[in-house]
Amino acid sequence: MSLILRTTLPDFDYLLPSSLDELLALKAKYGERAAVIAGGTVLLNLIRLGFRYDYVIDIKGVRELSAIEYREGKGLVIGAAVTLRDLENNEVVRDKYRVLWDAVRQIGDFHLRNRATIGGNICNPTLQADTIAPLAVLGASIEISSMRGSRRVAIWELVKEGGGLLLDPDEILTRIYIPEPPKGSRGAYFKVWWIAGIAALAANIDNPRERIVRIAYSFAPSPKLVEGVERIFRQEKPLKVLIGDAINYIKTIVTPPSDARASREYREHLVEFGTAYLLRKLLGVEV
Ligand SMILES: Cc1cc2nc3c(=O)[nH]c(=O)nc-3n(C[C@H](O)[C@H](O)[C@H](O)COP(=O)(O)OP(=O)(O)OC[C@H]3O[C@@H](n4cnc5c(N)ncnc54)[C@H](O)[C@@H]3O)c2cc1C
Repeated sequence: MSLILRTTLPDFDYLLPSSLDELLALKAKYGERAAVIAGGTVLLNLIRLGFRYDYVIDIKGVRELSAIEYREGKGLVIGAAVTLRDLENNEVVRDKYRVLWDAVRQIGDFHLRNRATIGGNICNPTLQADTIAPLAVLGASIEISSMRGSRRVAIWELVKEGGGLLLDPDEILTRIYIPEPPKGSRGAYFKVWWIAGIAALAANIDNPRERIVRIAYSFAPSPKLVEGVERIFRQEKPLKVLIGDAINYIKTIVTPPSDARASREYREHLVEFGTAYLLRKLLGVEV
C-alpha cells in the first residue's frame, strides 16, 4: 500500500442513520466494506493513506450516542459519539472522574477536541489512545452492539495490540460505563506527547487497610493496568517508602517498546519519573 497522503478523498457512499437500529442494520449489511466515522480525525487520514471503504457510516446522527448521563451512586454512562470537548466541559467528569478529565484535556488541541469523540479514541487503530488508561483505573466497561444484541465487557478485554478494539465486522462500540469512583478519590494523567501516558487514581490515603491506588500505562503496542500495586500500598509503611516499592515492582511488569518516536530506555525513564510524579502528587508526598 502506498503511504502517500492524498489531498482528495476517493469515492465512497456516505450514510447518516438517525437511530441506533438503523446504524446497526447498516453495519450488519455492509460489514467490513463500511467504516464507522465519528469525529473523523483519524479515519479520514486513514482513507487518504490508502484504506478503502465502499461506505462510511456516520454515527453522529444517532442522538442517544451523544449523551453523558450521571446517576449518583451508580456512575457515568458516556455515549460513544460524545466529543472530547463535551467531556472536558462536563462538571461531573471534571470533579468526580478527574483522571479521565485530565487525560481528555491533554488530547490534541481545542479544535481537535471539538470534533474527536471518546469512541473514536478508544477504537483508534493507529496510535496511543489517551483515554484507555484512565478508563482502566476507573474500572470502566464498554458496550458493544450489533443486530445480534449487546454485550458489556471490561475495556481491557477488547484492546488490541497495536491499537484499536477487537470487534466483529457487524459490531460498534456504543457506550462506556464507569462506576461511581471511590469516595474522595483523586486522579491525574501524566503525558509525554506520542510517547507515553500514565493514569493514576488514589483514595482513602490515610487508612492503609482501605487505601486504593491504581495505575495504568498507555504505551503502544498495548496499554497495561498494573495489578498488585494496591497490595503494596496496603502495608503500614511510610508513603515515601511505599512509592519506592511500587516503582520497583512496576518496573518489573511494564516493559515499554522502542519505536520511531522513542527508545525503550527513554520510556523506562518515563515510567519511573512519571509514576513517581503522579504518586507523590496524589498521595501528598513531598520530594
Ligand atoms: C493533530 C492530531 C492530534 C492528535 N492528538 C491525540 C492525542 O494527543 N491523544 C490521542 O489519544 N489521540 C490523538 N489524536 C488521534 C485522534 O484524534 C483521537 O484518537 C480521537 O479521539 C479520535 O476520535 P474520532 O471521533 O475523530 O475518531 P474517527 O476518526 O471518527 O474514528 C477512529 C477509528 O475508530 C473507528 N470508530 C470510531 N467510532 C467507533 C465506534 N463507535 N465503534 C466502532 N468503531 C469506531 C473508526 O472507524 C476509525 O477506525 C490526534 C489526531 C490528530 C489528527
